[in-house]
Amino acid sequence: MNSKDDQGSASASSQAPLSRYESQKRRDWNTFGQYLKNQRPPVSLSQCNCSHVLEFLRYLDQFGKTKVHLHGCVFFGQPDPPAPCTCPLRQAWGSLDALIGRLRAAYEEHGGSPETNPFGNGAIRVYLREVKDCQSKARGIPYKKKKKRKINHKPVDDLLINNPKQQHA
Ligand SMILES: [Zn+2]
Repeated sequence: MNSKDDQGSASASSQAPLSRYESQKRRDWNTFGQYLKNQRPPVSLSQCNCSHVLEFLRYLDQFGKTKVHLHGCVFFGQPDPPAPCTCPLRQAWGSLDALIGRLRAAYEEHGGSPETNPFGNGAIRVYLREVKDCQSKARGIPYKKKKKRKINHKPVDDLLINNPKQQHA
């Protein structure tokens, strides 16, 4: 239960150019605002809850570029299919995950309360986890940290790029 007493903190920096993250966040926020406005009837930000957010995520899938194989597809589970198939394109899990993070921050920057932040809702986390599981199976790509291969020496190319002069010394 913390009351907002530092409202001006986020709005002070308008002269510095926006970072990539900040401008992406602003774009995402505008897209989401537009999405709410286009609902019939339009949804105001104060009415917005996690089911709007879930619908928004599903809506975004039509613009996705990641092939997610259906169970019947012969390429199901293949990370690198040899031929095209008719399976749908979706938003990649990683993009959705990052998007939710940006929108969650933007919501609070626009005066939303952290307690009612629909982007922080457990239902969103559950949805994202399902997308992740489903996509990792369908695409044959586990979203885990890859096991570190044993590397005994730094790749030579790396050294050349970092210290080009030492080559001829
Ligand atoms: Zn397929």
